[in-house]
Amino acid sequence: MITFENVSKVYEDGTRAVDSINFTINKGEFFVLIGPSGCGKTTTLKMMNRLIPLSDGTIFVNGRKISDFNIHELRWDIGYVLQQIALFPHMTIEENIAIVPELKKWKKDNIYRRVTELLEMVGLDPDTYRNRKPSELSGGEQQRVGVIRALAADPEIILMDEPFSALDPLSREKLQDDIIHLQKSIKKTIIFVTHDMKEAMKLADRICLMNDGKIVQLATPEELISHP
Ligand code: ADP
Ligand code: ADP
Repeated sequence: MITFENVSKVYEDGTRAVDSINFTINKGEFFVLIGPSGCGKTTTLKMMNRLIPLSDGTIFVNGRKISDFNIHELRWDIGYVLQQIALFPHMTIEENIAIVPELKKWKKDNIYRRVTELLEMVGLDPDTYRNRKPSELSGGEQQRVGVIRALAADPEIILMDEPFSALDPLSREKLQDDIIHLQKSIKKTIIFVTHDMKEAMKLADRICLMNDGKIVQLATPEELISHP
């Protein structure tokens, strides 16, 4: 469902961040991009929803070139969870989660129900948290909201850039379990960036190991255990 064909990214200053990578991500797959800092993981993710343009090659989503998509359609259908918490400070938690559903003109009661369901999913009491501002939440709680905001309008594809890095170990494990459960039950395609091999082994259907802008290895966790 997502195919990278000879995709490269060279930034304006000449940095070759991604160097002619090829892979296909299947529908419903949990695909983990892993590698050392600076190897091109975030750049790869950002090209998928056109946050940055490609320098060379083509990315296809469901057989269509991403350059042919209406940009709103592409952004709405691809949820994105940032590494750094990026909630809008002047908006309530409910308003933050409802951004894309509002853009899609969902009915008010549908939005209300969806926000309730999502907050419950990550262990935040809806009555307590719905009307709070982000500054009234801990870092870990804000990051949970960042994750469920990306899921709000039921996107087919969810991009996650080290979404759990700011969480304490317990919350991290809880959210990892939630994400696995979610992905197995509703068959979303998730592309997940991390530099933590333990996290990758726990979450991934397939692990794509990057180094210096290139793909070094692409394998299932089982294959990595038997042929490291
Ligand atoms: P990772 O996510 O694996 O840490 P990135 O994709 O963020 O790696 O970065 C890949 C390389 O591109 C690094 O060398 C980084 O310094 C460089 N880079 C990232 N963003 C920019 C930018 N806007 N301009 C120039 N170089 C960049
Ligand atoms: P669009 O055609 O704009 O992409 P959708 O197909 O996502 O809209 O949704 C159609 C309607 O179904 C929306 O108005 C919304 O209220 C409702 N809906 C879709 N998904 C959900 C959901 N997960 N929870 C609650 N309501 C939903």
